[in-house]
Amino acid sequence: MKIDLHIHTAPLSACSYIDPRELIDEARRLNLDGICLTEHQVVWDRTEVDQLAEEAGIRIFRGNEFTTNQGDILVFGFYEDIKELLLIQELRDKVTAAAGYMIAAHPFRGFKTFGIGQLQMTVEQACKRKVLEFVDAVEIGNGKLSPDENEMAGKVAAKLGLPGTGGSDAHRVDEIATWVTEFEKDIEDENELLRELHGGRFRAVQGAEGS
Ligand SMILES: [Zn+2]
Ligand SMILES: [Zn+2]
Repeated sequence: MKIDLHIHTAPLSACSYIDPRELIDEARRLNLDGICLTEHQVVWDRTEVDQLAEEAGIRIFRGNEFTTNQGDILVFGFYEDIKELLLIQELRDKVTAAAGYMIAAHPFRGFKTFGIGQLQMTVEQACKRKVLEFVDAVEIGNGKLSPDENEMAGKVAAKLGLPGTGGSDAHRVDEIATWVTEFEKDIEDENELLRELHGGRFRAVQGAEGS
């Protein structure tokens, strides 16, 4: 089952140009099984999502993209709106209390320009990034990143033994499903999504048709 785990829609994400209904039409055209709405620091209303999903005949799940002092984190199973910037430890404590799941979003975005001293950053050095101590998984396929940046995330996740997810990080309709997460099982609802995430029964796949 292929799900795009990382999508921003308007107006809840001010930086996005995607109308939720256009998103659904495009997701269906691409034969995606499901989509996740991961706005910045705001969670969709469950009733609204259910209504959209019912009309669309596609599974729609809610997540959230939190900005922390250690970068952006995709969060599942924790449905609180928190507007202020959190320390990663604070977010981890809250998400753990809710039995939720945390994924380091685009952890190596811009890694080649972090600083002159890190131009040759090795996988070993990359593994020491603090954010990686706090997450359950790493986004190893992000549609907005370069192949180099995704490759570094993939190598780091493999070395640390963390599972890797894929998501488009789409802010425009034509960006949907550039990366997706393929789950082993059929997922009906958010509880099942959470269970499959915690079980690590998924892998990142490039493109909706990829394998
Ligand atoms: Zn982000
Ligand atoms: Zn994002």
